[in-house]
Amino acid sequence: MHFGMEKHMDEIYECSKERMQDKITTMSHYGDAGHGGITRYSLSPEAKQAREEFIKRMKAIGCTIKTDDVADVYATLEGTDPSLPAIVMASHVDSVRNGGNFDGILGVMSAMEVLETVADKKIPHKHNLVAMIWTNEEGSLYPPAMMCSGIVTYDYLPAEIRKNFKEENMLASKSILDPSKTFGMALDASGYKGDKKNRINPKDYMAMFELHIEQGPILEAAGNDIGVVTCVLGMVNYRIKTYGQADHAGTTPMKYRHDALYAAAKLLDYLHTELDKLDSELVYTTGEIVLHPDVHTVIPDYCEFSLDARHEDPKVIEQVVKIIENMPKEEVGCKTGYEVAWTRDTVYYDKTLVSYVQDSVNKLGYSNQRINSGAGHDAQFASYMLPTTMVFVPSKDGHSHCEPEFTSTEQCTKGASVLLGAVLECDSKNGSSLAES
Ligand SMILES: [Zn+2]
Repeated sequence: MHFGMEKHMDEIYECSKERMQDKITTMSHYGDAGHGGITRYSLSPEAKQAREEFIKRMKAIGCTIKTDDVADVYATLEGTDPSLPAIVMASHVDSVRNGGNFDGILGVMSAMEVLETVADKKIPHKHNLVAMIWTNEEGSLYPPAMMCSGIVTYDYLPAEIRKNFKEENMLASKSILDPSKTFGMALDASGYKGDKKNRINPKDYMAMFELHIEQGPILEAAGNDIGVVTCVLGMVNYRIKTYGQADHAGTTPMKYRHDALYAAAKLLDYLHTELDKLDSELVYTTGEIVLHPDVHTVIPDYCEFSLDARHEDPKVIEQVVKIIENMPKEEVGCKTGYEVAWTRDTVYYDKTLVSYVQDSVNKLGYSNQRINSGAGHDAQFASYMLPTTMVFVPSKDGHSHCEPEFTSTEQCTKGASVLLGAVLECDSKNGSSLAES
């Protein structure tokens, strides 16, 4: 039978719910923590089981497998013109401690499902299609998060991000469980360390897609099955500080105190009040606090807390910065201060690829909406290097990075079908047409 190249654009393909369910069930065994979720640190024996499963299934449909020097895995299903740059679908198989069965792994399973559907239905494609596993996205055992996409896209990253991903520092990153072990040692022992020349790059690859769970409540609340992702929110991350005087908890009358923690509490309350006056889509968080001396019988003399604020519009972020800069210089007898930890501009995904995702979901007729990503993903770093975009599927009750994380098999399969349609539309274009977008 002959398949006309021009034909496949008219067809609407759907992935297999049964095959998706089988992958979800199988992968959930690797790192099973015994109560509904998984702990699957990068390059752990459990993560290697997930990689082996990936490789076994991808080889079964005729893919060739290669790895790069940071153990990223690439399964390539050859197209009719392998000289064209490849289209890659990528995510991660590692998890946080006591994480769920969908963060990351669903992007990998969807990429597998797309290739399996292409192979099963013999869907013609010109470009090589690649399913890829990024190593150490979570950074839960070896910080930081998005480590290997940071290493691989290093030359393309903005300077202020790049400085956090120097390869020698990454290889020296210590295990949080055993400081005598480094990421580099885990890499050497993994059996997955390949050739640096195999790294994803903008010459050999034309586009990257990442399907991911939303990790928030928006799609579910709106009753939509698919999120067409447009950007990763810009953010600022500040350290807010208060300076007091350490004194004895029993002998210092209240009016003589300079309590740095109380000052921090006042300041935090002040910041919430002011930030709540800004755009309702602004999200901000204090998730970390440092207290000195952190002893229950001593009045704290120093407190430092984080303030992470995210919004698509840089003007709103500017207003956040103004509020921080203009906060009270003194609270309850303590001096205050602040420091920028880091900032990131809003990263817009490739408009052409976003339109392919939108076309795909429209053809399939699934309920959908445009959405932005508040969380970081490997796709965000990849987007500095080559045209990239993401597809979101709903997270039940908005939960993620925890065991109750859930997306129905039907929604997972719909996500994979949308991914497939977008990849096929991308395949129908010439490799050069994206560069103009
Ligand atoms: Zn993830």
